[in-house]
Amino acid sequence: MKYKVDLLTGIRPTGNLTAANYLGAVLPIIELQSQGISPLVFVSDIHAITDKEPDIVKEHIYGIVADYIALGIDPQKANIYLQSDIFGEVTTLTTLLARLVSVAELLRVPTLKDKLKKNAKPEMANSLLLLYPVLMASDILLNKAKKIPVGEDQLAHMEITRLIARRFNKKYGEIFPISQALHIKSLRILSLKGEGKMSKTNPSGAIFLTDDLKTVARKIKTAETAVEGEMNKKLESHILIAKGLAKTKSECDEIDSIIKEHKNGKPVMGQFKQTFTLIAQNFIEDFQIKRSEIIRNSSYVQSILEKGSQVAKRNATETLDDVKKALKFN
Ligand code: AMP
Repeated sequence: MKYKVDLLTGIRPTGNLTAANYLGAVLPIIELQSQGISPLVFVSDIHAITDKEPDIVKEHIYGIVADYIALGIDPQKANIYLQSDIFGEVTTLTTLLARLVSVAELLRVPTLKDKLKKNAKPEMANSLLLLYPVLMASDILLNKAKKIPVGEDQLAHMEITRLIARRFNKKYGEIFPISQALHIKSLRILSLKGEGKMSKTNPSGAIFLTDDLKTVARKIKTAETAVEGEMNKKLESHILIAKGLAKTKSECDEIDSIIKEHKNGKPVMGQFKQTFTLIAQNFIEDFQIKRSEIIRNSSYVQSILEKGSQVAKRNATETLDDVKKALKFN
């Protein structure tokens, strides 16, 4: 079974990125890209409307493309498309695939169970949420993608894609390859305040890549660390961010030597925060300059999305033709 795409990944256009988004979601793609793998990236605006209004989602599309390019996704190597540019193909395949997986199987997906628990009332979760894994299967299978980089929480979704592909192939003929999850090292960046994960929903503990430099300094200044001689999860997470955002080896070495002194009982957390602040400000300043250059040139972003959409459209049309033939719709 032939693959059309080596690596497929989706990004949700749902607002400003945090340092954790960069380290956990964008950097692994950039690392794969530097190993010579060309990713096909899609802006998942259809997925995003499961819990956001479509007009809000639309506002974030150009911004997220600019974010990814400013952070290092190379549009010469990667194709980037907008999921809704192949709306018809995505929704048609979703409908045709949905009949191959039962409601009970979808209800067992842990991310859905979590959402239902958080919302407390199942009636608050709309039914597109139930179909989310089928929508994801449709993106992957339209592109006959070989590998999908996923974190721990997405593994169950990938299993639904594989299950659907196997069931389809068995019943209607070998159309789909069985895509593989490319398990990316799962990072857990903590909130600077120490309460849970760094997240957009808790802005005071999150470093946003759009924060101004004073805000970055203030947030790091009030971050919780550890008493002299001790290590804890919070400090480990701050080190991860500082070294992840560092542009040079000497900045990483400086962090290492401060932490060595800290472990020896020296009171160096002030110095650590100063170095952490400088590293974060450097990274963010550089990012914001690049991003605003990209945003100013909206026809550039437009042309990138057009190039990507041509690739996605070609893949999707071919796959859907095969599927319709197999199902005797043609
Ligand atoms: P979200 O902004 O919550 O939609 O997250 C998008 C992606 O960013 C996730 O799937 C993760 O890959 C990454 N991410 C978000 N928050 C964190 C975090 N605190 N630690 C590590 N990775 C994260």
